[in-house]
Amino acid sequence: MPVPTSSTRFPREPERPPAQQITVEVDDQYLLMHMIQGTELGAFIENEIHPSVAAVQKLVRELSAVDYSLVIARSEETPAAAARLLALVKDSSEFGAARQETLELRTEVDSEWRQNAARSTALMREVTGFEFGQDTYRVFVTHPSMRNGAYFGNQEIAWGGMNEWPNYRTVYLWHEILHDEKWLGTGELNHAVLELVADNELRVRLNGGEYPPWEGHPSLTPIRERILPQWREYLASPGKDLRAFLAKVSDQEGKT
Ligand SMILES: [Zn+2]
Repeated sequence: MPVPTSSTRFPREPERPPAQQITVEVDDQYLLMHMIQGTELGAFIENEIHPSVAAVQKLVRELSAVDYSLVIARSEETPAAAARLLALVKDSSEFGAARQETLELRTEVDSEWRQNAARSTALMREVTGFEFGQDTYRVFVTHPSMRNGAYFGNQEIAWGGMNEWPNYRTVYLWHEILHDEKWLGTGELNHAVLELVADNELRVRLNGGEYPPWEGHPSLTPIRERILPQWREYLASPGKDLRAFLAKVSDQEGKT
């Protein structure tokens, strides 16, 4: 009779690191302010002002030209002016329609994140060595016709309607998360490394393909190109530590 070995016992479930959590929210005042400030066609994905946003802009101009101007001016009086305008329009059909469209975007972003959270967190942990998933980022979505994507600080992110390829929102929400000071912050070299991690490596791991061709800010392409050989070495090495990689390339960039 064979002696039972430890392998015949039920193996313990390996501990799964937590998936990165986000909450996707619509803040009415920020939504209204962002729509009012969409005065350039370039603020819109289709390069034309969406009718729902145009209707809100027209309404607020009619109701208070002064507060409209204060919101456009992006001064310290802007938040108070936006709050007064919100009080005037929040029950209007114009704002209601734009808000409803934004709530639909909220659902889409939320469901894409949920679908990819466990897998993308594991990939991001592997590529960076960072302990993601210990906290929650708040994502404030704005009208789906508009471009938006920014890290506000304090684990708060702004996000709009861009969705250019599969898993686009997953990749770019990770981009914004990496802008948190506790990960990579906002320096130029760090931003280039951030784009290697998210816009390029994470994208390719989720969708296949290769880089270059690059995703990311064109102004950072020269740095990405310069550090690409070290980046390839880093990716091939075991036990990755992105801070050590940064220290190495920052040294090298300092000498060029
Ligand atoms: Zn960025």
